Amino acid sequence: MILRTFSLSKFFDGLKALDRVNIEVEEGKITLVIGPNGSGKTTLINVITGFYKADEGKVEYKGEDITNKPPHELYRRGIVRTFQIPKPLKKLTVLENLLIARENPGEGIVGALTKAYIPKEKESVTKAFEILEFLGIEHLWDEEAQNLSGGQLRLVEIGRALMSDADLFVMDEPLAGVAPKLSHDILGRMRELCEMGKTFLIVEHRLDIVLEYVDKVYVMASGRIIAEGKGKEVIEKPEVVEVYLGA
Ligand code: ADP
Ligand code: MG
Repeated sequence: MILRTFSLSKFFDGLKALDRVNIEVEEGKITLVIGPNGSGKTTLINVITGFYKADEGKVEYKGEDITNKPPHELYRRGIVRTFQIPKPLKKLTVLENLLIARENPGEGIVGALTKAYIPKEKESVTKAFEILEFLGIEHLWDEEAQNLSGGQLRLVEIGRALMSDADLFVMDEPLAGVAPKLSHDILGRMRELCEMGKTFLIVEHRLDIVLEYVDKVYVMASGRIIAEGKGKEVIEKPEVVEVYLGA
């Protein structure tokens, strides 16, 4: 397992946003976390990627304890995350947004702007264009992020993650706002990246689209993992149907 959580808990004023969560993420696979709104999915990602501190429990990555390490340290170790709401720099072009992603892993925007934000190496530019091509948005390379559609911004967000040489991609609703056809394309690309040894931990609502691409599914409700399994059969379990109907 590339990543494991052990009895991971997070409390907000007495609310158990995460309640002793145990998950295992296998290398070279796509692991999906689903659950109704407010069930703790984003909190789980935030705690794993160092954006929130755990109150109890442990996170292990490649066999090492990474609990409560800050995001930039996790980035250095090969973990990168994307956000439920993309956070591009709106005045910068698509290409620039990819280039600064490499310079500026998960840290403040200010740091990126006070540094020379465009790395000089040709290699970074070449890599950025390869990724834009891979995502089918190379024609938008010179467009300011503020002029993009929601789906295009989502692709830029994914492109920024791919600019890192990360091994583990943690993605919060990567397909939100993306049309079905493109969503299938992106998931297909993720599978190709898995073949190349990359690993994905994703939260996604669009079960109709995503289930056929994933290797393992965890279902959350009220901060707990209530079911797990391999694919479509998980969402047919009575306890899962119940939390979705109740939500
Ligand atoms: P999901 O992503 O599954 O919709 P979240 O992880 O965002 O759920 O939220 C889980 C619970 O934790 C919700 O009840 C939410 O209101 C609460 N929560 C999340 N973040 C915070 C925060 N920063 N402060 C207080 N409560 C929070
Ligand atoms: Mg969420």
